[in-house]
Amino acid sequence: AGVVIGLDIGGTKTHGIRFEDGVPVADESAGSSNVQNVSREEAARNIADLFGRIGGGTVSRVYAGSGGIDTEEDAAALASLIQPHVPDALVTVVHDSRLLLAAGHASAGVAVIAGTGSAAWGRNADGGEARAGGWGYLLGDEGSGYWLGREAVRHSLRRMNQGLPADELTTALLQSCGVDHPNRLIALFHSPETGRRFWAQQARHVVAAAAAGHPGSQAMLDQAGRDLGDLALQVLHQIGLGGPVILGGGLGMNVEPLQDSFRRHLSSAGATDVRVLDQEPVFGVLQLLAEPA
Ligand code: BGC
Repeated sequence: AGVVIGLDIGGTKTHGIRFEDGVPVADESAGSSNVQNVSREEAARNIADLFGRIGGGTVSRVYAGSGGIDTEEDAAALASLIQPHVPDALVTVVHDSRLLLAAGHASAGVAVIAGTGSAAWGRNADGGEARAGGWGYLLGDEGSGYWLGREAVRHSLRRMNQGLPADELTTALLQSCGVDHPNRLIALFHSPETGRRFWAQQARHVVAAAAAGHPGSQAMLDQAGRDLGDLALQVLHQIGLGGPVILGGGLGMNVEPLQDSFRRHLSSAGATDVRVLDQEPVFGVLQLLAEPA
């Protein structure tokens, strides 16, 4: 009861909802405040921006799920950026995949995020927990938006190396990046003017080209679904479960060929209870707060 603020902090945005007596009264988004992806200063600015719009003050509880939270120290560092905006509130910070499982109406199972980044986390009815992936864009993030954007660049560079003309994916990518030749993508990729979010946004060209029948793009979405399926299988195996598996994140919730490949891969390994998240992860906060500690 009272005023509760739920936060979902991904690689692209910070999504916040203010609940008063369980009813959402404000729903706002700001830039990412995930300290794996943006500087502490930028994270602090984006959190201030969010609280400016959603209202701080007399809040009893803030529950935040964030990417890039791998240790207690990571959680404490993020909590210290939130606390000044809600001096009287109890602030809890968990990994973003936890929100997703709760938002998927499951107390046991595996949640897989395919958003700007990717990760899987699950728990069983005895409280056993495991995670897979979620290593960030430099180390992993298979099947994520960033991964697909980078694959689109690599596809274009490979064709350039082979002396082949730009195909539909490369044409769309070059246009969106405002450059006229694949060789310009190399410097752009490494430039501080682009970053994880910029390249994750280019994943939409892979999705569009795949829908138009481009085989290379279809193969990328297929690979993404299989890699995400592998993350889910690693967690299922560790916690001794057969499901359910809940797929979320912008790509996971919206891209059908990726969902199909994910389902096929899991079902060939015997995991048939696969669901797509049907509400924003931040709503999982209500369920998490209702659970016994
Ligand atoms: C981060 C994870 C996060 C995932 C999904 C990855 O880049 O490393 O911590 O769970 O993105 O947001």
